[in-house]
Amino acid sequence: MRILISADMEGATGVTWTDDVRPGTEQWQRFRRVFTGDVNACVTGLYAAGATEVLVNEAHSSQRNLLLEDLDERARLLTGRHKPLSMMQGVDSGMDGVVFLGYHAAAGAEGVLSHTYLENSITGVWLDGVHASEGRLNAALAAEHGVPVVLVTGDDQTCLDAVSYAPEAALAPVKECVSRYAAICLPPAGAHALIAARAEHGMASAGRFEGTAAPHRIEVEFDAAHLAAATAVIPTVEQLDVRRVGFDAPTMTEAMKCFKVVTAIAAGAIQGIYG
Ligand SMILES: [Zn+2]
Repeated sequence: MRILISADMEGATGVTWTDDVRPGTEQWQRFRRVFTGDVNACVTGLYAAGATEVLVNEAHSSQRNLLLEDLDERARLLTGRHKPLSMMQGVDSGMDGVVFLGYHAAAGAEGVLSHTYLENSITGVWLDGVHASEGRLNAALAAEHGVPVVLVTGDDQTCLDAVSYAPEAALAPVKECVSRYAAICLPPAGAHALIAARAEHGMASAGRFEGTAAPHRIEVEFDAAHLAAATAVIPTVEQLDVRRVGFDAPTMTEAMKCFKVVTAIAAGAIQGIYG
């Protein structure tokens, strides 16, 4: 049983504030240790239930957050950025399950540090007409490769969201959202026990199935008109409204690659405090 852990940071234990997840800050240095503990707890649970191989793929910001020197020795770490499948790199390598660890709610939704890819400039993403979080997008990509989502960890809103896109997945809510920047948090000891137990439970739904590639449509809404105009120069991307673009792709893999280009172009077009 080969399991991929896609490890994002906003939904990690104790994280509630910008500095907690911003590389280079004192709080980030503190929380990367706790975040690594979340991953280790997950690895423990996965192995207890029959995992034979665990690949951890860094999925946050510079994608260099976890402490390799503190990682469970049974896991391997894919660290660093510029990966074709980004948060989901490795999902196409014959995995039997994927864990969304430290995930968060979508842009425009209630949830701790809620966003979709860009922290502010994207106000909403829709996959085939459904308001989509990173979890929903990545679950659709996993499904195309025949890989079930076995566990989702994050705040309670993240877990609620996961029920709608991965109903079979086990859930580990490590904090209760009070606002976008506040949460009632379990201390690491409690959170890690919860993650390990739920990971073990989630392994019941592991096992590759026949994935099917199908066309998908993604629409993206920005907080400013020029970002929509900037991204509409990408072939296949069409401006639908002042702040909204959309595109069709023959597969979810192609859709996510195009979405990555949309976010990269938009990120490069953001101007100072006017956005
Ligand atoms: Zn994220």
